[in-house]
Amino acid sequence: MTQPIWSLKGQRALVTGGTKGIGEAIVRQFLDLGASVFIVARNPDLLQQQLIGYRQQGYTVDGLAIDVSQPDTASQVIEKVHASWGGLDILVNNAGTNIRKPTAEYSPAEYDHILNTNLRSAYELTQAAYPLLKASGNGKVVFISSVSGLAHTSSGSLYGMSKAALLQLTRNLAVEWAPDGIRVNAVAPWYIKTPLATPVLTNPEKLNGILKRTPMSRIGEPEEVASVVSFLSMPASGYVTGQTISVDGGLMAWAY
Ligand code: NAP
Repeated sequence: MTQPIWSLKGQRALVTGGTKGIGEAIVRQFLDLGASVFIVARNPDLLQQQLIGYRQQGYTVDGLAIDVSQPDTASQVIEKVHASWGGLDILVNNAGTNIRKPTAEYSPAEYDHILNTNLRSAYELTQAAYPLLKASGNGKVVFISSVSGLAHTSSGSLYGMSKAALLQLTRNLAVEWAPDGIRVNAVAPWYIKTPLATPVLTNPEKLNGILKRTPMSRIGEPEEVASVVSFLSMPASGYVTGQTISVDGGLMAWAY
């Protein structure tokens, strides 16, 4: 029997930052599409509450409360995933953070916090997941980058640097791991309605500026990012690797 191409049935997925915003929407779509999902986030109470809720709805979920920005966490996460699912087919590196400041004002501690959360954690987790993704024979990695990795977006240079580096990591790994049957892609959202974006989106002046600069004149929904991540994780995108898909209401297409 051929595998349905618009499905994640039987797939074992790991989603970092899966309890809120974009990550939560990815988890929900993955579960609805038939995947088992392992969720990582820091807040243990929220994670447990969500795991219980998903299980009550009949979904297959597990999770670990851990701060991925801390050293030596990647191996712990992958060991737990291996214990839960016995393997891994899809890794979504979604956990991210930001501190907006003029570049001259960033401290070394802020540099470490942003780069460790957004870049180093994703790099180390993907590295640690490689044996399982290779063993899958059909591994998929999706990095949640940002349009801030493609252009200046007033989000701060450290955030932009971390998100741009994920896009180059996407291209490197796509080529390096293609012989292992692993596809690697990235998604670059513009403003999406999530807790991370709330401080900006609740500022009327900033919101107005964003809407004026966005061809579609609206803010994105978490589900609109999740659906692209779902596509990149399915057999339907089987010949797509090394790509960045912007989910941005047309922002990157508009030079003026
Ligand atoms: P969010 O609403 O703040 O949610 C972040 C998620 O990541 C939460 O589940 C959070 O749970 C978890 N998390 C954060 N830091 C973590 C850490 N150190 N270790 C483990 N888990 C951690 O963020 P979001 O807006 O959905 O953003 C998700 C991704 O999309 C990020 O990479 C962000 O840069 C990117 N993005 C967002 C937008 C946007 O407008 N929202 C635009 C472009 C790109 P805990 O707090 O419990 O840890």
